Formats: sequence, C-alpha cells, structure tokens
Amino acid sequence: MTTTVQVGASAPAPAAGRRLGTWEDDALCAQTDPEAFFPETGQSSRQAKQICAACPVRTECLDYALAHRGLTGVWGGLSPHERAQLRNQP
Ligand code: SF4
Repeated sequence: MTTTVQVGASAPAPAAGRRLGTWEDDALCAQTDPEAFFPETGQSSRQAKQICAACPVRTECLDYALAHRGLTGVWGGLSPHERAQLRNQP
C-alpha cells in the first residue's frame, strides 16, 4: 500500500504527489527550488539539470517520465523536448 504526500503545489513534478515507499522519496528536487524545474520559455533549465545530475533516483525518474508522455518540466535531467527526442531514437 502506498500513501500520497502533498509536498506543495509548486513542487517539481516528481516531488509533488509523492508516494511513500517509492523512488520519489529520494527525489533531490523535493529539497530544492521547484521553479528551476519549470523554466519559462527562453529561460535556462541548467540549474534543474545540475540538480538532476546529482540525484540518486535519476534513472528511475527518467524511466517514469519516458513512460508518461505529456509531463511538463525537467524530469530525469531532460526537458520535455529532449525526452521526446530520446523516445524517437531507434
Ligand atoms: S532526477 Fe531530477 S526531476 Fe527526477 S527526481 Fe531527481 S531531481 Fe527530481
């Protein structure tokens, strides 16, 4: 059984709606600036990607994001566009 924990409406996607006992428990973004994971058009996602690079659950996060199309923001160190490109690779 899993329990949902609301971290905050503005929390990064992996951190928002966390379920205890899952990889989201170790999401580094839950401890950081959530706005960095949702850069405005034309703004850099560099800060979020640096955080993701150090995240212990990056692989799990990216796998989840690749399996769930339509997610916004940076997941697993990749932007939505970068995830789409990765999905389309042969
Ligand atoms: S890889 Fe990035 S977006 Fe995914 S849980 Fe870790 S910090 Fe959050």
